[in-house]
Amino acid sequence: MTINFRYDPSYEYENFRAAFGSKNHAQASPRQVLFFEHYAELTRPNAIAFSEWYLREHNIDPNKVLSDIEANWIAIETKYFTRANAIFGKPLPMDRLTVYLTVHDRCSYNYERGYFFIHTNLKAVTKTLMHELWHWYYYAFFRDEIQVKHGAKVSNDMKEALTVLLNEEFSDLMPGIQDIGYPQHQELRATILKEYRNTHDIKQTIERSLQSITE
Ligand SMILES: [Zn+2]
Repeated sequence: MTINFRYDPSYEYENFRAAFGSKNHAQASPRQVLFFEHYAELTRPNAIAFSEWYLREHNIDPNKVLSDIEANWIAIETKYFTRANAIFGKPLPMDRLTVYLTVHDRCSYNYERGYFFIHTNLKAVTKTLMHELWHWYYYAFFRDEIQVKHGAKVSNDMKEALTVLLNEEFSDLMPGIQDIGYPQHQELRATILKEYRNTHDIKQTIERSLQSITE
C-alpha cells in the first residue's frame, strides 16, 4: 500500500462540500462558521481562496506540515498495516491512496475515488490516519453486505463505532490520544469493545454488535 500525501487547494472544495453535509454532526463546525463569515456560498473558487487565506493567516506551510505528517506516518505504518491485516484477515484491496491536507476541521473521504482528508493539527495526525484507514477496511470487507441488509444508517453507525478498536489494538501507536467517536455511537462502541474482548474476532464482533442495534 502506497499512501501519497498532498496539498491541492482545489481539492478543498471536495472536502468542504462533503464536510458541510456530514451526517455525523448536528452543528456547523467552527471552520464552517468562519467560512460563511467570509463567503456567502460554497464554490470551488471560494473554497480555494478561503484555504489560502487561512494558511497565510495561521502561518501554516502545507509542505512542511505534509513532510512532518509523512515522517510520523512512516514511523508506524508497517506496524499499523501488519496488525490491521491480521485483524481483518487480509490486506486492503487497493495498492495506493491519496491523503489531502485540509484547513477544515472535519475530514471527509471518498472511498471510490481513493482519497481522504486530514487536518493541519499535527497532535492527532497518526490517530486520524489510522481512523480513516480503519474505515477503508470496513468499506472493503463489510460495508456492502451490511448496507444491503440493514441500510445506510446502520452501516454508517457501525463504520464509525468500529474505530473504538483503535484504542484497544493501537494505543501504543497514538500515545496520549484516544479515538473518542461521536456521542450518538457511545453505546454501540461499548458493545463492540465488549464483543471484541470476548471473541477477538472482527467478523463475530460486528455480527453480534449488529444484533444489538437491529433487534
Ligand atoms: Zn470516521
